[in-house]
Amino acid sequence: MTACPGDQKAVIDATMTTSAVAECAGVSRTFGSGATAVRAVREVNCRIPACARIAVTGPSGSGKSTLLHLIAGLDAPTAGSVRWPALHDSGPGRPMGIGVVFQGPSLLPSLDVAENVALPLLFAGQAEHTAMGNVRAVLDLVGIGELAAKLPDELSGGQSQRVAIARALAARPRLILADEPTGKLDHHTADRVITVLLDTAITIGAAVIVSTHDPVVAARLPDHWVMRDGHLKTCPADRGAT
Ligand code: ADP
Ligand code: MG
Repeated sequence: MTACPGDQKAVIDATMTTSAVAECAGVSRTFGSGATAVRAVREVNCRIPACARIAVTGPSGSGKSTLLHLIAGLDAPTAGSVRWPALHDSGPGRPMGIGVVFQGPSLLPSLDVAENVALPLLFAGQAEHTAMGNVRAVLDLVGIGELAAKLPDELSGGQSQRVAIARALAARPRLILADEPTGKLDHHTADRVITVLLDTAITIGAAVIVSTHDPVVAARLPDHWVMRDGHLKTCPADRGAT
């Protein structure tokens, strides 16, 4: 198991450090069937501790997004199982407590920043005034409180990704999955976005997995996983991947 960095021990309670937020056992995901079947993820075994800081690298098409969607419970494996022991995994269905930053633009263009960030809270059943209070808090946490009334097309790339991060954090998840969150950003902006993601994850006590093509971004996280042709190789920090 990956050890919790010292600075997180105060914010992650003892029970959360001992049970995994997610575990994959023999997980495969095949799209289609027959001669055109694509085996996007193949027999993956992995364990994500409550304090995980993991970078997932690998070429385009190697299965990073598919694996993240499986871990998020947004997609179901065609073989094997995904479990979420620390997230009150009570059987079938998507667990509560996972925030996702999707690859590519994902803000709804007709909603302002506050409304975009409020969406998952409203879908989860929060009353509007409660949701808006939580939105204000998370926008401040991510450092973009002044953008609340802006529309997505009024934002820079870095601001848009901060909004996407705020939306993923709004419900205070135990696990954040960020799929190439800096893919369209310059290095300086990418570095600041990753800093926001990692700092806020510490504040709320969440595990983090970031998929990225950028070795500089990957180097910000201590543990490295590599996807290749659907296979996952996990590389603890002390063995120094990439
Ligand atoms: P990565 O994120 O590493 O670029 P993906 O997980 O997006 O890789 O894709 C892995 C493989 O699965 C690719 O060959 C891709 O074309 C295929 N794939 C992904 N999603 C689907 C889908 N919904 N239907 C069919 N093929 C898919
Ligand atoms: Mg992808």
